[in-house]
Amino acid sequence: GIRGLLNLSQDMGGCHSNEPVADNSRPRAALVALVRNRELLGMRMAVRQIEDRFNRNYNYPYIFVNDQEFTEEFKEGIRALTNAEVSFGTLDSESWQVPEWINQTLYEEEKRTATYLHGGKDSYRKMCRFQSGYLHKHPLVADLDYYWRIEPDVEYYCDIDYDPFVYMRENGYKYGWTIAMPEFMPTVRTLWNTTMEFVNANQGLVAQNNMAEWLANGDAYNGCHFWSNFEIVDLSFYRSSTYQMFFDHLDRAGGFFYERWGDAPVHSIAAALFLNASQIHYFNDIGYYHPTILYCPQGSSTKGRCVCDEDKAFIHNTACTVRYKEVRQKIVEPEAKELAHT
Ligand code: GDP
Ligand code: MN
Repeated sequence: GIRGLLNLSQDMGGCHSNEPVADNSRPRAALVALVRNRELLGMRMAVRQIEDRFNRNYNYPYIFVNDQEFTEEFKEGIRALTNAEVSFGTLDSESWQVPEWINQTLYEEEKRTATYLHGGKDSYRKMCRFQSGYLHKHPLVADLDYYWRIEPDVEYYCDIDYDPFVYMRENGYKYGWTIAMPEFMPTVRTLWNTTMEFVNANQGLVAQNNMAEWLANGDAYNGCHFWSNFEIVDLSFYRSSTYQMFFDHLDRAGGFFYERWGDAPVHSIAAALFLNASQIHYFNDIGYYHPTILYCPQGSSTKGRCVCDEDKAFIHNTACTVRYKEVRQKIVEPEAKELAHT
């Protein structure tokens, strides 16, 4: 199909010259949500805002997936909001299950005694495992180069007058985020140790200019993560053998069920370890709200293209965002100098 042709013409370009060729093609990209039928109103509110702030000018397709069949009401309710192409899909059973290697006794015990949010739920854990390891492999998503994750009830405060997918491609960014914060540690008790097992058993996978220092003070995981309900990702990252191996290792260890590992810390740890700092981008120009936290770019209360209440937006000053900026600066500046010398 088209994909093969595009690849072919790029390969031929490479025969004639080694110079980077500007890519003017439209990125294969979409706005993607896992969502339930009963969240139609919240999803409509989010799509309404995304259309108004961005997508009415860009018409990127939407993809909605669900462990149940979408109702006609849901499909019509979404389609009424946009001229863009909209697809709806369901999940296969492998991607939405408690794997057979999970010890049911241990798992039941955790659900019974957990005091954290959603601690007693199967569905929330299946959701986190799905978003960690399977969303990028879903047939509707598998042909995309980039996705932008959306969720019900999120809000966008700023006119986005450029194409973030093109921006990511032009700058070689693989992972884009807008809110960072610490995880509730009882949900990730062994995530860091399990990660270190993987790293030690697979030498050479960690990126040279990684951001591990953002995640750990010495040996102790600080829980910092990008809030993955907003993320813009070059999906070649999640499809890389490194990420796949990492996910498989975590999945086998069972912490999606024996604890409640979120896709946010899983994605974030992978980005911080397996990408170079210069491949991660903080979209600090995209004002965003997901219940109950917001990020509001500075100045938005009185001027500019964003409208939000800065007094409620403490989040850009949280320890994890500040730490990110410090660590990234330390790494990216020497990295740029290094490149300039080669
Ligand atoms: P939170 O963001 O951590 O508070 O969790 P949410 O309840 O918002 O769930 C994250 C995303 O997964 C949202 O887009 C939900 O609509 C979706 N989601 C959560 N659980 C399920 C489920 O059981 N089935 C489906 N289809 N979607 C789910
Ligand atoms: Mn949510």
